[in-house]
Amino acid sequence: MHNDVILEVNELKTIFQTHSGRIAAVDNVSFKLQRNETLGIVGESGCGKSVTARSILKLVEFEGGSIESGRIDYWPTADEKIELALLDHRSKQMQNIRGAQISMIFQEPMASFNPVYSIGKQLAEIVIRHKRVSKREARDQVIELLSKVKIPNALHRFDDYPHEFSGGMRQRAMIVMAILCNPRILIADEPTTALDVTVEAQILDLIHSLKVENRMSTIIITHDMSVVGEMTDHVMVMYAGRVVEYADTEALFAKPLHPYTKALLQSIPMIGKGGELFSIEGSVPSLLHLPSGCYFAPRCPYASDRCKRTNPPEILIDGKHLVHCWLYAEDRA
Ligand code: SF4
Repeated sequence: MHNDVILEVNELKTIFQTHSGRIAAVDNVSFKLQRNETLGIVGESGCGKSVTARSILKLVEFEGGSIESGRIDYWPTADEKIELALLDHRSKQMQNIRGAQISMIFQEPMASFNPVYSIGKQLAEIVIRHKRVSKREARDQVIELLSKVKIPNALHRFDDYPHEFSGGMRQRAMIVMAILCNPRILIADEPTTALDVTVEAQILDLIHSLKVENRMSTIIITHDMSVVGEMTDHVMVMYAGRVVEYADTEALFAKPLHPYTKALLQSIPMIGKGGELFSIEGSVPSLLHLPSGCYFAPRCPYASDRCKRTNPPEILIDGKHLVHCWLYAEDRA
């Protein structure tokens, strides 16, 4: 039964051929997104979060990557399934899905707007292209949405150029771009990285209220566990292209299992606690020179010889909490 599932990714492997060799930026990743739920994908930079999202939208093919194996099943309705991994990234069908049905808020909004056209004109053109409405109607819809995301004096700012908007306003305009066509799935890739803390809180509130109002399923990609705690229903933790833990958010925060998840949680700043912020020693390995066995072993305080030799299997705890770590194997030493 897939009635409640809108997106199902199964054993996805996305590779890039670089000058120095072939890398698997996403390696055997599986997850489900339910209708109206918010899934958080979390991990440090270089863990494969963004490439997972860009594989779903088939953007990786424009960037020199390719989906080597696995399935990406998208269920626009309970009875209709589209196998995204099989679609040509340039096909009309994929173009219609990208932006109109599954859309993405990118990290850097400046790169999403053309500096030589006004913000309003660029947004209105998207409405005209996808909804086939008149110029006047498109303009009205854009102004309404710009007001909704609290762009002050939206009627007049419609004609502003991207450089005339502040960073926070550009991010709001980017959100308008992503929701213009009422997508079923919204993917927000580090939507607040470039913003200060106050604007960050406003943008996250905005994404949440639009999600509820428009009944969108949402994927939030972040390195920040506090964002995950506030915004998501389920969490998938990634490390070096692989999933290391997957659980509902409450369970993950109450009882994190993987040593990497525990370290990420220790790095959340606590109001009033002061002191040094914990940071994880070492860095994510280069995908060109991955260690054998568990990729986290070089940074893990519990690493055993078995960890260094063999990749841990997927282990299910309490029937729904997934972890990839030898510490939870039945035959652990
Ligand atoms: Fe650490 Fe071993 Fe678990 Fe990897 S499998 S996270 S090295 S204990």
